[in-house]
Amino acid sequence: MSSFLDDRVDSDAILDDIRGIVEIESPSRHTAGVNRVLAAITRFFDGTGAVCERHPTVDTLGDILRVRCDPSRNEPGILVLSHMDTVHPVGTLAGKLPWRREGDRVYGPGIYDMKGGLMLAIAAYRRIAHAGRRTPLPITFLFTPDEEVSSPASRSFIEREARGYRYVLVTEPARDGGKIVTARKGVGAFIVRTRGRPAHSGSSPEKGRSAIVAMAELVLAIEGMNDAPRGITTNVGLINGGTARNSVAEDCMMEVDLRFSDRARASELESKMLALKSSRPDIETTVTGKITRPPFARERIVDLVFDQAAAIAQAIGFKLESAPPVGGGSDGNFTVAMGISTLDGLGVDGDGAHTNDEYLKYSSIEPRTRLMQGLMERLQ
Ligand SMILES: [Zn+2]
Repeated sequence: MSSFLDDRVDSDAILDDIRGIVEIESPSRHTAGVNRVLAAITRFFDGTGAVCERHPTVDTLGDILRVRCDPSRNEPGILVLSHMDTVHPVGTLAGKLPWRREGDRVYGPGIYDMKGGLMLAIAAYRRIAHAGRRTPLPITFLFTPDEEVSSPASRSFIEREARGYRYVLVTEPARDGGKIVTARKGVGAFIVRTRGRPAHSGSSPEKGRSAIVAMAELVLAIEGMNDAPRGITTNVGLINGGTARNSVAEDCMMEVDLRFSDRARASELESKMLALKSSRPDIETTVTGKITRPPFARERIVDLVFDQAAAIAQAIGFKLESAPPVGGGSDGNFTVAMGISTLDGLGVDGDGAHTNDEYLKYSSIEPRTRLMQGLMERLQ
């Protein structure tokens, strides 16, 4: 019987398809661009027998595409999770990161995170469909529009959908040398605002209460929450305050990123962030935000699917390794927290995610497509 080991992989044809969607720019907030990617993806399923359903989210974000490859089968199956949005603003393709190939490296906005991986999974499925083979488990794809902004519209959809599946395969990029991802930190996102009292800094500084000075103390408090041995990191990544050099600042705001490894600490860390308060007089502090992704912990349910993937990789001819726990979150964080066997980082190898040096390795297209196809054909 033929299988993923016999089918020829045409890396050039797959790369052409990747190019087709990389050249549609789709930053998360560019609804039209994301929806154009969605339309292009829908066409890749033509003639496979899969049923594509489009689900609107909110006005400011693109739609979700659900593709049921085996609409007549209802047993728990495989959910392939991919996002269509990128972090690159419109104009990146014509500017800082044009499509180009240099040896094994192929550059383009979102090519590594994750349009390359998304296309590999579609290619893997199309090979199975065109060969007329039936997979042991039914397969469904979910393409989401908002992963790069923490999945505000997709999270509940993903959680509702994932409940009925045995496995979740996430096409996020592979890590250094093709390692897959079996553990990710949890993520929190918060906005802290301080409000003081404005005054002229020359004529009546004593009347002022500086929101900037109050915030400076809170920045240090957040810095003090860093606890590397316990896997907790914090970062004040953006700060904004004041109106003029010679005015005592009335307002200041900052955005805080929080990462942590231990699921049990989520609510404690969230409460600690929300309780932040300036100790200075006449300063009002408000904190908004939450834990946006629970940690993706390496548990038995993850080992279970990892071991099967490693055996498939061995049959293809490479050794599958998992990366050390990564700091970046993904939609896999949601499904692993629900207790579903999840493998992440199944996309292309490369580097430079979220930068203007983003590239995939052409040589990774073949083994990664085979690995994805092998998972689809072997998992049961
Ligand atoms: Zn991604």
